[in-house]
Amino acid sequence: MADAGEEHGARHQGRQQEVRADVSVDVVPGPQSPRPGRLVDTFGRIATDLRVSLTDHCNLRCTYCMPAEGLPWLAKPQMLSDEELLRVLAVFVGLGVTQIRLTGGEPLLRPRLPELIAAITSLEPRPSIALTTNGLGLAAQATALAEAGLDRVNVSLDTPDRATFAALTRRDRWEDVVSGLAAADAAGLHPVKVNAVLMRGVNDHQGLDLLHWCLERGYQLRFIEQMPLDAQHSWAREQMVTAEEVRRGLSEQHTLTPVPGRGSAPAETYLVDGGPATVGIIASVTAPFCAACDRVRLTADGMVRNCLFARGEADLRGPMRDGASDADLIRLIRGEMWRKARGHGIGDPDFTQPTRPMSAIGG
Ligand code: SAM
Ligand code: SF4
Repeated sequence: MADAGEEHGARHQGRQQEVRADVSVDVVPGPQSPRPGRLVDTFGRIATDLRVSLTDHCNLRCTYCMPAEGLPWLAKPQMLSDEELLRVLAVFVGLGVTQIRLTGGEPLLRPRLPELIAAITSLEPRPSIALTTNGLGLAAQATALAEAGLDRVNVSLDTPDRATFAALTRRDRWEDVVSGLAAADAAGLHPVKVNAVLMRGVNDHQGLDLLHWCLERGYQLRFIEQMPLDAQHSWAREQMVTAEEVRRGLSEQHTLTPVPGRGSAPAETYLVDGGPATVGIIASVTAPFCAACDRVRLTADGMVRNCLFARGEADLRGPMRDGASDADLIRLIRGEMWRKARGHGIGDPDFTQPTRPMSAIGG
């Protein structure tokens, strides 16, 4: 693996200056990052945002994510225990991670989630803690999660229509998501963000209705382009509803004004009719934000991934269970970051979808 990293670093050194200008950091290239304490890659990007998959299990079956029959889920012993997870999170925080986003699969299915969040808040320096959830069960848990220290929540809701929701997720649970959103709002998990994927012929005619539904309730809506990360490998570029289409659709009834200062945020944010309400559009495929990427990922079974689309990953679970020291874990994590590619390459002729689906990586 180290050889692959060295080769990758050498291969891209010549292009480093160009990307460095985008992210304004000062990094000396080499076979291993020379900077102690930061998660840097060969393009000078620094990872501060850790996405943690708490489980690959899920109680919905969104058609853009997994097949109707579900997937072969990880067994409990394959997943990091709470203790193992907290140890790894402490190592990441020591490496400069300042934001931890808990996701999955469905993270609310992880037992003792409030206790886990409370333990994360005691890491030094305390990272901000966000949750991406499908919202099922959020009505029951929102207050406990907020009291435990959860800072923010993103709830995935692709449609304001119950029947469309049932068709898209293969479960008739729209009302549970709606009450989960209301509970998050009441618990003070602001701003309450809604993530939506539009699918051609399914809900692509509902973008405006969904925006209005969210605006009425004070939720911040963000549309995300569908990515080739579904377990059944059915994504087709021609079928994808593009960010531009979404923008055009919303502009039929509203004036969208770009908000400057996007930084490393993936969403292009627009003021709706002059604001203060906003809507986000994430062009993950058609206008990737890889040059400003500040993310790193940890799967529920303890693999570090430097990108959603990474072809490789570094195992922390095995070494940890074999007695690895924190210094060993740091070496593994930094080595994996050093292998991070310049971009996801979805448009490249040799692009191949990663073996792990989104639900097993952590979206
Ligand atoms: N189950 C939780 C949820 O749905 O919010 C968390 C995990 S889910 C994988 C995280 C996010 O990824 C959701 O907002 C979901 O809509 C999005 N997602 C899943 N598959 C996707 C795909 N193929 N393309 C784009 N977004 C996707
Ligand atoms: Fe489950 Fe989230 Fe995938 Fe939907 S997008 S099937 S809720 S993991």
